[in-house]
Amino acid sequence: MKRITAALLIAIMTASMFAQEKMIPGQNKFRQMGTEFNTPNAYRTASGAPGQLYWQQQANYKISIELDDQNQKITGEETIEYINNSPDVLTYLWVQLDQNMRQKESLTLAITPLQTRHMRYDFYKMMFMGEFDGGFKIGSVSNGEGVPLPHTINYTMMRIDLPQALEPGQKTELAISWWYNINDRMKMRGRSGMEYFEEDDNYVYTIAQFFPRMAVYSEVEGWQNNQFLGQTEFALPFGNYEVEITVPDDHVVGATGVLINAEEVLSPEHLRRLEAAKNSLEEPVLIVTQEEAEAAEKNKSTKKLTWKYQAENVRDFAFASSRKFIWDGMGVKFGDRTVLATSLYPKEGNPLWEEYSTRVVAHTLNVYSRMTFDYPYPIAYSVHTAQIGMEYPMICFNGGRPKKDGSYADRVKYQMISVIIHEVGHNFFPMIVNSDERQWTWMDEGLNSFLEGVAEREWEEDYPASMGTPSEIVKYMKGDQSNIAPIMLNG
Ligand SMILES: [Zn+2]
Repeated sequence: MKRITAALLIAIMTASMFAQEKMIPGQNKFRQMGTEFNTPNAYRTASGAPGQLYWQQQANYKISIELDDQNQKITGEETIEYINNSPDVLTYLWVQLDQNMRQKESLTLAITPLQTRHMRYDFYKMMFMGEFDGGFKIGSVSNGEGVPLPHTINYTMMRIDLPQALEPGQKTELAISWWYNINDRMKMRGRSGMEYFEEDDNYVYTIAQFFPRMAVYSEVEGWQNNQFLGQTEFALPFGNYEVEITVPDDHVVGATGVLINAEEVLSPEHLRRLEAAKNSLEEPVLIVTQEEAEAAEKNKSTKKLTWKYQAENVRDFAFASSRKFIWDGMGVKFGDRTVLATSLYPKEGNPLWEEYSTRVVAHTLNVYSRMTFDYPYPIAYSVHTAQIGMEYPMICFNGGRPKKDGSYADRVKYQMISVIIHEVGHNFFPMIVNSDERQWTWMDEGLNSFLEGVAEREWEEDYPASMGTPSEIVKYMKGDQSNIAPIMLNG
């Protein structure tokens, strides 16, 4: 942690030195940061550490969803147990409806410059001109006894009014049902969504922001109810999750948390291989082979299976599901605990993915744990996508795909390794150290990019690392002054 603080300090000091010595225009952008911070109090000390009266809200979820592979939609219901640990009386609660950024009257369109809209016409045609019916379709919002609760949906945020005020130390229950159409990520992008593979007529689903999620209430911001416009990421309270995911019975699923009914969803042979993977500390073991995945691609079962997961004290939940998935894993030791480093990828990811993905996950957990604290979760997934990188607790979606004939440029390989390090690294910031990404992008991206550089240079001597050393800020500081933005900026 010391080295991280040092890097940040060097960056800030370098900034102020440039400003003083050269008297460059824009120096006022690098004024001292003291006035930006909140006054120390009983909740937060001057060092930023929790004070004596520090509190956090808690939201525990029981979620049950079905992934409809025929129509590419998700239907779900949930109960949220919301615990008011604050000293304040709450008369309403805010819930996040992130999928609504894809509804037709989305604010995302309103803030996108016209020029950008022309450049990505397909995206906007799908999203806003009637070809894609996006957004959450909310069925019901009620309390634990089924009594409907008055609520107001304001784009990606929903305010639920409580019939009885929630006193400090009390808890309340919300029950919400919904469905939504899954976005085709290859056509209209998105942090989560699906990819269609025409050749075998199958989908890979990488799914997040799929359920109404509690907003954060803190003594600094009050309710963090800034809209989700697609750019700035997320602010979420910690809680415990019990999630049931129903999918076609030939799908392989990976998710945040521990799979608690492995005996029901995996064959004895797959269970045996999963166990072997956990015990393999040197190299990955295949749990579902490419041959098995290719057979499932052709058979397309119509039966269903429910995968059940539990996750304790996490700020979010995501999952991936497909009959195309090859699955491998290996163990990583932390004291007497073994964490499963694991990957899910279709045959289109090979030969890159079987060679590198799980090894990179294990390497990242080792390097980041040494630099910060031992990885506390039981599992870490890397899931293949065509080109994006996006992180969630215990699971992330990563790009890096060879050409059709299996060949790839070095650049593709290193980009893939970098994105896996980066997204697995986000487990530490912001998933475990739970910063408010909606407000402060630099907190998790800054710390994570620095450690990404460390992990890259330890992966391979002369790794073509593109970030992570303090000297690299010089390039930025010497750039066009009118483009330089202050660090304390909203994403
Ligand atoms: Zn990032």
